Amino acid sequence: EDAVPFFARYLKKKAGILGTEKCAFFDLFAPLPASFSGRRWSWAETQDYVTECFASFSDEMADFAHHAFTSGWIDAEIRPGKIGGAYMTAFPLAGESRVMCNFDGTFNSVMTVAHELGHAWHFEVMKDLPAFRRDVPMTLAETASIFAETLVFRRSLQTCAGEERLARLEGHLQDGCQTLCDILSRFYFEKAAFAAAENGSPSADDFCAWMAEAQKKAYGGALDEQALHPYMWLVKCHYYSADLAFYNFPYAFGQLFALALFSRFQEEGKSFAPVYKNLLRMTGSQNAGQIAALAGFRLEDPEFWRRGTDVFRQEADGWERLFQKKEKTDIL
Ligand SMILES: [Zn+2]
Repeated sequence: EDAVPFFARYLKKKAGILGTEKCAFFDLFAPLPASFSGRRWSWAETQDYVTECFASFSDEMADFAHHAFTSGWIDAEIRPGKIGGAYMTAFPLAGESRVMCNFDGTFNSVMTVAHELGHAWHFEVMKDLPAFRRDVPMTLAETASIFAETLVFRRSLQTCAGEERLARLEGHLQDGCQTLCDILSRFYFEKAAFAAAENGSPSADDFCAWMAEAQKKAYGGALDEQALHPYMWLVKCHYYSADLAFYNFPYAFGQLFALALFSRFQEEGKSFAPVYKNLLRMTGSQNAGQIAALAGFRLEDPEFWRRGTDVFRQEADGWERLFQKKEKTDIL
């Protein structure tokens, strides 16, 4: 909820760029005008860059990425008949992992490679543990992947300026808005639905009304109220797992948890790498509170979560400032 105001500000600005007063729900992922789209990356360049970014944190993690790249562990090529998306599969008996992705030369797909290699590194540091200590809860399953993509994202910001930087920041804000605002709307929705379920069976109209209400609140009033997505509950399979109530929150948890760990790396540099590796190793044996304690954090402390939301606040500020500068130079 702390993050809602600056995402609302970002959406207001984005609406302006798109030439509308308020963003519709379908504008959330709308690409900005073509001049903002980033440059293309080659696969060879991506391999070097991801390895270099990992090396800024941990040589061991970089060596692992290099091994994965040069051993044919990553199926990145787009070809007819291949399924879309990306995932990592671990082979516990062989002690190896493989990554499937569809590399299209955008910076986003560079980040996806880093994300999946983060999952692969997570498995790598746990692979010698007994199977029952490798079973990671959902809250911690995305820690390594988000941490790895953050290594790439933050490092890339050090060397890009102008429109490239605008595009990159906007991409990250778009993702953050999904993880923090949309996931929050799903939480509000489920809360309302569970509370009402005690008094009988709600109708489809009830679900739509709660969803619309949840979206208005979670996006800080920044969405066009005539163009919300009241049927979101119908199309998201996340609401239909009978044994998983509030299944959505681990995404927000995972994002903020990984960013808080990343802030430790920013403070301590490479000396945080062994702490991080041990912490990942324990993710199947200890709960999130105990894992946070290994990095010196308390989950009950709002300051811990603020470390994550602050990253997006700074990015939203930076994006807005940069955009204003661009507007001024465009007019001149
Ligand atoms: Zn993932």
